[in-house]
Amino acid sequence: MRRLRNVKIVATLGPASSDYKTIRALFEAGADVFRLNMSHGTHDEHRVRYDILRQIEADTGRPVAVLADLQGPKLRVGTFAAGATDLEEGEMFRLDLDPAEGDSHRVCLPHPEIFAALEPGARLLVNDGKIRLKVIDCGPDFANCEVMVGGTISNRKGVNVPDVVLPLAALSEKDRVDLEFACELGADWLALSFVQRPEDVTEAKELAKGRAMVLSKIEKPSAERAFDEILAVSDGIMVARGDLGVELPVHAVPPIQKRLIRKCRAAAKPVIVATQMLESMIESPMPTRAEVSDVATAIYEGADAVMLSAESAAGRYPIDAVQTMNAVAQSVEGDSTYRDIIEASRIATRQTVTDGIVAAAREIAETTDVSAICCYTQSGKTVGLVCRERPRVPVIALSPITQTLRKLCLNWGVHAVRCDEVSRFKEAVVNAARAARDYGFADESHQIIVMAGVPFNVTGTTNILRVAPCDERLIYRTDPE
Ligand code: PGA
Ligand code: MN
Repeated sequence: MRRLRNVKIVATLGPASSDYKTIRALFEAGADVFRLNMSHGTHDEHRVRYDILRQIEADTGRPVAVLADLQGPKLRVGTFAAGATDLEEGEMFRLDLDPAEGDSHRVCLPHPEIFAALEPGARLLVNDGKIRLKVIDCGPDFANCEVMVGGTISNRKGVNVPDVVLPLAALSEKDRVDLEFACELGADWLALSFVQRPEDVTEAKELAKGRAMVLSKIEKPSAERAFDEILAVSDGIMVARGDLGVELPVHAVPPIQKRLIRKCRAAAKPVIVATQMLESMIESPMPTRAEVSDVATAIYEGADAVMLSAESAAGRYPIDAVQTMNAVAQSVEGDSTYRDIIEASRIATRQTVTDGIVAAAREIAETTDVSAICCYTQSGKTVGLVCRERPRVPVIALSPITQTLRKLCLNWGVHAVRCDEVSRFKEAVVNAARAARDYGFADESHQIIVMAGVPFNVTGTTNILRVAPCDERLIYRTDPE
């Protein structure tokens, strides 16, 4: 089983996608990475979904990446007795610390530090800014607000307070518990919400202790300002457009998206574009033209992955949403303009032996008819460098390390394949050619590029590049030991 595109699809799991049949269908439709959103659901629910994903790996023989998204210091209202209520413009609505279920007059906002920082006149934006409240008067445990823009407010909807600087720690108590749970479970990636400083990331990395890669969600103006420093300490990035477009004006988001994607590619770190990509498909089997165009734009910009949130977690058409992304990706990547853009935006880096070999592999792929770049990897680092080049042919990552194969599912263009440890170069070529043939990337008449580091099985620099035949008899006849 292989994908016919390079960009990856991240699908969030939730109530609409919790059984084996649905998750398997999402995987077959094209989801490469599955997101467990710690803002919703119990640990038991996440564990069930996690176990299903590992079962799908076992049943299909294909690696799958699990991304556990930590809520971060996101402010959320409590729950409502009726699950939801409508707020009418001009009416008053009270936020307080009372944990009792809410109604159309009040709801709990379980964050004393907000009440301490609020002032009359401050705006509170609920549910991605769809509902707008203005503080009329407030005290240490309440805020009476006027509804400026009404709408339906439901359980645990997010609240942004753009006018007030809130003294919030990067990882809440809940985040620490969730982080440990996710690492113990075996998540491959952790996503950190509302990162503000590089120290927020290093703190999470210390807690993860190498058990999972750490990806920073850029959704605060302060994160955008400190982006270079945050990128330097992160393993990946998510352009979290939902909160970013609430904390900043919506029209500030597209330029930021473009800039962040470029910087991530230059740093050879995967970047996800997230939120509202196919929003209307929560309710409709058909996306809007604007949504399709938005997904296409992220792909033209060179993103590693595009993401579905509620579309796959709670929508009516989760599988159609993945199919739509898959189809858009194939359409864009089949366009010659796409290749032109990707090649024009390539950053030349020639510092190390590995950089040189990676660039050579890409050039050989462009000037000859090789079918794939096969790359032996321990840590996945060399594969990241190959992906940065955005080569014309697929990248097959070969590793005996399951965790490496899984995490690479997020990287542009990577088809990760498990292989046994090899001790001789000829064996490496034979394995690579077999993987290329087995997954339909090449047949016996084709040639492939094989990259490896010798001695084998140690993390270090790639130092060999070989253009090899795919025909096993030819490999035995022509290849050096
Ligand atoms: P969220 O993050 O869905 O966890 O809020 C993504 C975003 O804000 O865009
Ligand atoms: Mn967010």
